[in-house]
Amino acid sequence: MVKRYLEDYKTFTCIAADCPATCCSGWLIEIDEKSIDRYKSLSKENNDFKENVDFAEECFKQKENKDCAFLRADGLCKMQKEYGEAMLCYTCDMYPRHIEEFPNVREYSLSASCPVSAMQIVENTNYLSYLTEEDDEKDAYEEEEYGQFNDALYGKLLEIREIIIDIFKTENKKFEEKAAVIDNCMKKVQEDLDDGFWDGCEKAFEKIDGELSKTTLKDYVDDLKLMNSLEPLREDFVQWVNKAMDYFSKNRDEEKFQEFEDNISDLDQIKTNIALYFIFTYFCGAAYDDYVYSAARMSIFAVRVVTVLAFKNWIENGDACVSEILYKFCRELENSNDNLITIRQELDETYYQ
Ligand code: SF4
Repeated sequence: MVKRYLEDYKTFTCIAADCPATCCSGWLIEIDEKSIDRYKSLSKENNDFKENVDFAEECFKQKENKDCAFLRADGLCKMQKEYGEAMLCYTCDMYPRHIEEFPNVREYSLSASCPVSAMQIVENTNYLSYLTEEDDEKDAYEEEEYGQFNDALYGKLLEIREIIIDIFKTENKKFEEKAAVIDNCMKKVQEDLDDGFWDGCEKAFEKIDGELSKTTLKDYVDDLKLMNSLEPLREDFVQWVNKAMDYFSKNRDEEKFQEFEDNISDLDQIKTNIALYFIFTYFCGAAYDDYVYSAARMSIFAVRVVTVLAFKNWIENGDACVSEILYKFCRELENSNDNLITIRQELDETYYQ
């Protein structure tokens, strides 16, 4: 099995009670079938454990403030502390580790919805990289378990992902220039695939012609507006996003935005690493649905939303707080499969406009 690990995956350590925003609050944690069976089989003495599990909905119950029922006042998990780590369900055991499965290939990353992971992405002074290893592990899934997986497309996507990564890592170019090239070329790739021209669709990247239009604050705000289409998960963040949208509907100070971009040190590096995180984690997943444009565009969308919210924070408080905004944004997007699907659909529509 080929295994690819995004940087920092293997060295991740949860900071538990020291975490500024525990992952045990604000979202319904779904429980996998094996764990549900294990919890069901617990004896009567464990009734106080079972009371915290919603067996009908197959998730952990929540307190009024949306904390997981197992979250203790000291910020630690009651289940882990009192019943042992082996009792954790798959999601809790894995989080923030994220795995994408392909036939004989597994890709590992750390969800940026965890503050530690977000900080590692934002504070990395180099471009994010990944490591590839190969071992004797056999693929446990049968062919049919990969559903709509498109093997030929996957091969193309691997090639294109390398091209995109190289473009993002190009020195002496502003992030927006690189993003515009990727956006233009991926539109062409999607067009070729829609027309059935498989062979050589990656060649779209060889001819980058014409003037690339300049990205303005308006483009950033337009992407921010797409947040409205998501299922709201954390009320405080959603309200904050709505306030930002309201602010930008009345104030579109391009000069101030330029001042912000010039003043935040390493902003281009930070944008690039956020984009690299999204490209590594989600791009090849398009082999399951054929929507390659939106899989690439999601990386630019994420950068724009995080940047424009950081700009708003900088106007208000003089501080951009990029890593805090990144993990909060990723909690809205990545903690819900529906939201990940919705945003891909919304971005796909921008391609057909
Ligand atoms: S969000 Fe990350 S650091 Fe915080 S408790 Fe969860 S895994 Fe640990």
